[in-house]
Amino acid sequence: MRAIMKMDRAPGVEYVTNIEKPTPKDDEILFQVKATAICGTDFSCWKWNLAAEKFNDKYEAKYPFVLGHECCGVVTEVGKNVTNIQVGDKIAIETHIYCEECYQCKTGDAHNCQHLKIYGFSCDGCFAEFATAPAKCAYKLPEAVSFEQGALFEPAGVAMFALREAKVGPGDTVMIYGCGPIGQMAIQLALASGVKNVIAVDIDDFRAGQARDLGAIAVNSLKQDLGEVVREYCSERGGVDVILEISGASSIYDTMADYLRKEGQIMLLAHPGERVSFDIMKTMHHSGARIKGIFGRRIWDSWDALTDLVASGKVDLTKVVTHRFPLSAGNKAFEQIAAGSGKVLFIPEWED
Ligand SMILES: [Zn+2]
Ligand SMILES: [Zn+2]
Repeated sequence: MRAIMKMDRAPGVEYVTNIEKPTPKDDEILFQVKATAICGTDFSCWKWNLAAEKFNDKYEAKYPFVLGHECCGVVTEVGKNVTNIQVGDKIAIETHIYCEECYQCKTGDAHNCQHLKIYGFSCDGCFAEFATAPAKCAYKLPEAVSFEQGALFEPAGVAMFALREAKVGPGDTVMIYGCGPIGQMAIQLALASGVKNVIAVDIDDFRAGQARDLGAIAVNSLKQDLGEVVREYCSERGGVDVILEISGASSIYDTMADYLRKEGQIMLLAHPGERVSFDIMKTMHHSGARIKGIFGRRIWDSWDALTDLVASGKVDLTKVVTHRFPLSAGNKAFEQIAAGSGKVLFIPEWED
């Protein structure tokens, strides 16, 4: 079987052609991978930076392993204890492998399980022709969701989670801070959820242009006065209702109180990877702001909401895809991301 593996704690990946097709354990499924996407975490693992080291330690990566966790495929075999999924089902995989036993799992927060494991790090992932996964992490998709869209449910689900958590709706203005693939999916999902305006912010003209094409009021914050745009569209409420922080830039923390309305909400989908200090009185206390960390997707609420928006055709997640490669491209696919790209997919059925 062909696959892309992470061989050791060093830069790069390796394309292999001779690993054995896995067999599902009693509580697992085996599926043929139809489409799989490279995540920012995979990319930092390829570069091998400090974030990758921390992530690998935290989730106990055991080398070598098959990288990849954002995927969609068709089930070809199920273990003997599996009842929720059948052979032939079209499925996508929830990356957060939860225990079902801890307090968080029992009270609706399984995405932040106390004993969390990560698919494609704590175990083999899906940059391969076939992959196994715990059946409890498989989400069944309807026919109307394509394989490529299904492979994007995992990253899109993070944005969906944030929007559902913020309870956005008609009349609201959402600021999307950072217009990479998740930001672009968030723009579409926010508009499809019925918000009045999306103000999308980036420092890159190309990305701001993509955001504009998706229907957002796009701002290059290096060239335009973001405060002025916010005043223009949100004068009555005194700022935007919700900020989705997807940039990882630390500079936002000092200025977000200037854009957010009083009693507004900040959803943190990204992090700067370093300590940040900001004025708590201005940013949080006197403004009454709520800051909420968004880690993963709410299981299965985020998935069900996405299914509705994608299957009905209101949102096309593949708009963020710029490149598709066979597995044999290996390192080349990651180099493309380094050179500049939207979302990059592997199509494992492609031979070369
Ligand atoms: Zn991911
Ligand atoms: Zn748990």
